[in-house]
Amino acid sequence: MVALASVAAAQKDSAGQLPGTAMPTITSVPAGAQASANFNADTATDAYMALIPPEAKARSDAYFEGGYWLTLWEFVSVVVGMLLLLQLRWSAAMRDLAERITRFKPLQTLIYMTEFTLVATILGFPLSLYEDYFREHQYGLSTQAFGPWMGDQFKGLLVNLVLYGILGMALFGVARRLQRSWWLWGAGVSIVFVNLVVLIGPVYLVPIFNQVKRLDDPKITAPILRLARANGIPARDVFEIDASRQTTRMSANVSGLGSTMRITLNDNLLRRGSPEEIQAVMGHEMGHYVLHHVYNGMLFFSVMIVLLFAWLRWGLEAALGRWGEKWQIRGIGDTAVVPLVVLLVAIFIFVLNPVFNTFTRTQEHEADMFGLNASRQPDGMAQAAIHLGEYRKMNPGPVQEWIFYDHPSGRRRIHDAMVWKAENLQPAP
Ligand SMILES: [Zn+2]
Repeated sequence: MVALASVAAAQKDSAGQLPGTAMPTITSVPAGAQASANFNADTATDAYMALIPPEAKARSDAYFEGGYWLTLWEFVSVVVGMLLLLQLRWSAAMRDLAERITRFKPLQTLIYMTEFTLVATILGFPLSLYEDYFREHQYGLSTQAFGPWMGDQFKGLLVNLVLYGILGMALFGVARRLQRSWWLWGAGVSIVFVNLVVLIGPVYLVPIFNQVKRLDDPKITAPILRLARANGIPARDVFEIDASRQTTRMSANVSGLGSTMRITLNDNLLRRGSPEEIQAVMGHEMGHYVLHHVYNGMLFFSVMIVLLFAWLRWGLEAALGRWGEKWQIRGIGDTAVVPLVVLLVAIFIFVLNPVFNTFTRTQEHEADMFGLNASRQPDGMAQAAIHLGEYRKMNPGPVQEWIFYDHPSGRRRIHDAMVWKAENLQPAP
């Protein structure tokens, strides 16, 4: 029998959670999932699923399914907001204002992007207030009071102002100079920009919102680093992030490239996860690294960005030919076109969402299998899947999973772990 030495006492578990809604912390492997001569992966999976209290399941299903609708409402709100900016000619007015302030083109772009980001943030505020604040509290997933939450929103706005300002200046610089091939160069600029943000994000952006520190406890770090070395990962340290500032969610990640590569666990995982569970999660994260998922993701999204710009070229030409005069937009080099660009980007993302999800979910499945082989902790993996089920529906239908899931569903992950256990951890006959 594999005992899960659980460090999480029930009273710790309930911190920040509504009573009875947190997923259970399993202190020993359920009878149906214990290694035995007649071990069966399906029975073992059901034994784990049966440990989830009905209230916890109902709540997490409602939370996740509500998310499907939120995706739609977010899309609708962007479409309506951008059409308003175009139809009421607010976008043209913002451009005129920028042109009155300065004659220097790049500065005009920067001023316009600042105006646009502020207006778009205000228009989107009611929905993000509901989605990120009230709803998270309603489901017991948030740990943040209103003041600190607003503080984070404000910091996010400042980051957006800088990033969109830079991206806008670069893209309009290209659009003004290259009337024909702007879309290809624009795609190139965007690819460089996105990859740069992904690269510097963990070092420069994450610390704006959270504190990341080196983990000093050798009881936790030694097995993780041993696992890392066994898989050829050049990690010297393990990092901890104080995600509990915002949320009760457990998570971990591997970020950076080459020598900037680092393994980060969040404090919720450290606090509530059993050692077996932490090792299973770490094995998964290492899978992302060893299987080059960061590079593959960069390549995939670079191709998607080229497709996006081909769509923009077609969509902008068609829409400007028809409504350009009415919206007082002079052409693709005119900053007043931004709401139309955002509208077209939103349509692209909304339609291709299942494709993005499937790409990510496929990588996540690969990382799961790698993690099982590396950590040899199928029961730790099952526990992790149940804890993660606090914010993901455990057992969706196949179509739901294909459209909405960027990770395999909890049940599937437990089943994968139990199949692995059946074939690799059984007592020899
Ligand atoms: Zn992953």
